[in-house]
Amino acid sequence: METLLMSGKPVADAARERIAAKIAAAKTNGKQVTLAIVTVGDDPASHVYKSRLIKMTESLGAGVRTVELPATASQEEVEAVIKELNADEKVTGILPMMPLPKHLNSDAVGALLAPAKDVDCLNPFNAGELYLGRSRWAPCTPRACMATLAHYGIELKGKHVVVLGRSNVVGKPVALLLLQEHATVTICHSRTQDLPGILRQADIIVAAVGIPSFVKQDMVKEGVVIVDVGINAVDGKLLGDVDAAVAEKASAFTPVPGGIGVVSNMMVMDMLSRDL
Ligand code: NAP
Repeated sequence: METLLMSGKPVADAARERIAAKIAAAKTNGKQVTLAIVTVGDDPASHVYKSRLIKMTESLGAGVRTVELPATASQEEVEAVIKELNADEKVTGILPMMPLPKHLNSDAVGALLAPAKDVDCLNPFNAGELYLGRSRWAPCTPRACMATLAHYGIELKGKHVVVLGRSNVVGKPVALLLLQEHATVTICHSRTQDLPGILRQADIIVAAVGIPSFVKQDMVKEGVVIVDVGINAVDGKLLGDVDAAVAEKASAFTPVPGGIGVVSNMMVMDMLSRDL
């Protein structure tokens, strides 16, 4: 059986072309797109993510504004920044880098974001819209999964998709997006009984569990489609949530690295340019 490698780059490149064209057209009509990135403290992973986003935003012809607050910033200080960005007409998207330091209430920060500028669906209004099946806004990683499946022509209608993980950033929203595309969705988590039995029934598995190589070859059926969201650093290497040997049984799979992660960042840009 031929196995399809669902690399992220072609998916991101196709989205890039579409987004850059939209941003350029908006510019000629006098409309500038600007992403505001808010960081609190010095989380190294957030900094890497931030510099990638800045590069990507600028390369697409959009503007970037960065606001850096110290790790000691109070809830009031963070909220004051969000309010200011909400009110600033030049800012069209706002991304507060998560996780915020532990003393801060991230839910309250997310809830304060103007829904129209909330590029990663942190505001409960946008999460509610997604729940209601009006997915104008959805977090970037679930959108990356959907864009990848669409790009590679994976049929979802009527298929049994098992989503492994129920986080608010990946598992739950991707399950809702899949449901919108008429998949039959099962969501599994740490209390699920007979997980291998359920996984073996899956036509498609979306793995977002955060445990390296968690899904093994004997847990999947022949011909399964694998979307591996996991990014786990092990001995200086990045491993997915799905064991590499599963690819031998799969009809299609996303690599790690080089799969969903590559598309996720581009989806921030997609959100930023949605209304153009
Ligand atoms: P998370 O918030 O830690 O959620 C993990 C989920 O996995 C939870 O729902 C948890 O169940 C479930 N789980 C944990 N152990 C399990 C087990 N033994 N059996 C079954 N389910 C189990 O993680 P996340 O933020 O969703 O991220 C998941 C993975 O995706 C991570 O590797 C992360 O680095 C990666 N990620 C990648 C991208 C990207 O762009 N590619 C973006 C975000 C995240 P409970 O709810 O019961 O605890």
